[in-house]
Amino acid sequence: MFFKVGLGFDSHRLVSGRPLIIGGVNIPSPLGCLAHSDGDVLVHSLIDALLGAAGLGDIGQRFPDTDPAYENISSLELLRAVMTEIKASGLAVVNADSIIILEKPRLAPFISQMKTGLCPLLSITPANLGIKAKTAEGLGEIGSGQAIEAWTTILLSG
Ligand code: MG
Repeated sequence: MFFKVGLGFDSHRLVSGRPLIIGGVNIPSPLGCLAHSDGDVLVHSLIDALLGAAGLGDIGQRFPDTDPAYENISSLELLRAVMTEIKASGLAVVNADSIIILEKPRLAPFISQMKTGLCPLLSITPANLGIKAKTAEGLGEIGSGQAIEAWTTILLSG
């Protein structure tokens, strides 16, 4: 058996008139992510961590934001497609650990719902998916509510 570690990062600008979808959950908020897809930063960071660990490129190569096929697409569909490739490469997810950095709203009430949706896609149990939400303590673009960021590390086995 061997292991491969991956690191994923994503950020989006927050604007009015867009839904705020994080980890596949629609979060009530006056601001949402400006993006070609649904702008799900958590899922985008998971996808980049998966692709990086597997040596399969990155999300921008796989799903170009110039391709109308991906306009407003649920990022869970992108994650499903990537996991099909991961499994076809003989790899499996051991665990993943993510941080979402957002000033408001508080995400804690939504984390178990995110795990419920994401764990079956990743073929892991909730104990093997960490999702932590932090604020930026009022500092910088995130702290002023202009942006959201997510980071993910992932371990694959083969
Ligand atoms: Mg993104």
